[in-house]
Amino acid sequence: MIRTLTCRQVIAALMDYVDDRLAASTRRDVEHHLKTCGPCRDFAQGYRATPGVVRRATGVPRAASSLRPLCARALKRQPPRS
Ligand SMILES: [Zn+2]
Repeated sequence: MIRTLTCRQVIAALMDYVDDRLAASTRRDVEHHLKTCGPCRDFAQGYRATPGVVRRATGVPRAASSLRPLCARALKRQPPRS
C-alpha cells in the first residue's frame, strides 16, 4: 500500500532516495509522490544533478538553484600556474 507523503517528507528523504538508501516501501512512496508532484519532481532532478560530494559536504538537501552558482564557481577555479 502506498502512503501519501507530504512534500516536506519527500524532500527530507531525497538524499537517501538519490543515494538508493531507502527501504523499498519508502522508495515506492517517494516515487509515487514524485509522479504526482511537479515541484518535487523538478527539485529531485536538480538534486540528482548536484554532485554527491557537495550534497555530503552540506549534509542537508538544498534547493538546486542555491547550489548551482557554488558548483559553477568551484568548477571554474583553476589550479595556480607554476
Ligand atoms: Zn511534492
